[in-house]
Amino acid sequence: MPRYSINDQRFNQTLQELGHLGESPTGMDRVAYSPEDILGRDYAIKLMKEAGLETRIDNAGNIIGRLAGVDENLPVIALGSHTDTVPKGGKYDGALGVMAAIEVIRTLKDQGHTTKHSLEVINFTNEEGTRFHRWLVGSRSMCGLLEQDDLDAVDDDGFGLGPCLADIGGDISHIEEARRSTGELAAYLELHIEQGPYLHKSGNPIGVVTGITGRAVFEVEIEGKANHAGTTPMETRRDALVSASKLVLAIQKMAAEQEICRVSTVGSIRAVPNAVNVIPGSASIGLEFRDTDMAALAAAEQELRRITDEAIVNEEVAIDVQRHRFTSSVPISAEMQAMVAEAAENCGMTWEPLASGAGHDAQAVANIAPVAMIFVPSVDGISHSPEEYSTPQDCANGAQVLLELLLLADERL
Ligand SMILES: [Zn+2]
Repeated sequence: MPRYSINDQRFNQTLQELGHLGESPTGMDRVAYSPEDILGRDYAIKLMKEAGLETRIDNAGNIIGRLAGVDENLPVIALGSHTDTVPKGGKYDGALGVMAAIEVIRTLKDQGHTTKHSLEVINFTNEEGTRFHRWLVGSRSMCGLLEQDDLDAVDDDGFGLGPCLADIGGDISHIEEARRSTGELAAYLELHIEQGPYLHKSGNPIGVVTGITGRAVFEVEIEGKANHAGTTPMETRRDALVSASKLVLAIQKMAAEQEICRVSTVGSIRAVPNAVNVIPGSASIGLEFRDTDMAALAAAEQELRRITDEAIVNEEVAIDVQRHRFTSSVPISAEMQAMVAEAAENCGMTWEPLASGAGHDAQAVANIAPVAMIFVPSVDGISHSPEEYSTPQDCANGAQVLLELLLLADERL
């Protein structure tokens, strides 16, 4: 049995109320720094204040609500996620973790329970990274991972980050003051929807996150020869798009059949001149591999280079492979995983270990503190879509386990 029960109804009502801010027939639009994002942030601040949290906005625009613990000398235990969304997104991605963190604080207050550690609810700003094409901006600022490139980023209209940050209470010229040091946080606990199909399929209400996936992104340029589509015999062609197409299928097989890495995706393709009566002289594809095992990502890159070398010989095309991004996976410690599993069991819920295929604020915070993540089912595994849905029971289960996890962490850390 859990020690205290969260108020399911009150909690789900806050999720629904937040879900009306920025809602439209095509989905949720609380893109970071937009007026709708600010409505969502103000709603979170209002709830935090009602829960008795002392709230502030750091220079990166993160909303931080603090509740003093018995021993103010101990490092803080933080709970949180984000309330920004992708365009045409869903009601649960990020929102669940913030609303649940606030419900946990309200329940503790109702019960008159003061934790040993001081607590913080953090609503990280701009997790999704839509407008400036830079993600985890709030959490990376807090953890010293922001780069000059992030600060210089402009949106599609050439508009910079500074005024946007000012609109939400941040300050780009002193953004480094948002940084926290290692040891300031005893732990960071994040509840999130799975955004994938595994829990929905297995029927387990809780996922114990084992790690957050690493990601390697590549651009492959193929150079063949453009020529007349009517007069060039088939056997003499050097068609860059045909070579690209063969690569697309080979890359799909790398995960689907050869199981070299967990997932492999070619998400973009371009042909030049892209005219129906011209044999494509050049083509490019954009692709990515994801796995929590960095050795698997290295093996995938090696295989990519092997198949492109083969294509150069067999198809008489020139190929250039550029690695654009390589994000390391973030493992979650066995100790923190065991605590999440124990919290689920204390609440009478079955669980399964799961790797996160998506990125989260927790992966940035892991640079300065131990982190734990709890997943709850996403119906049909749908996310970043208006169809994104987790049942009120799934959401309440997650909040309940988050509370129990916090109490365990407060005793043990
Ligand atoms: Zn999220």
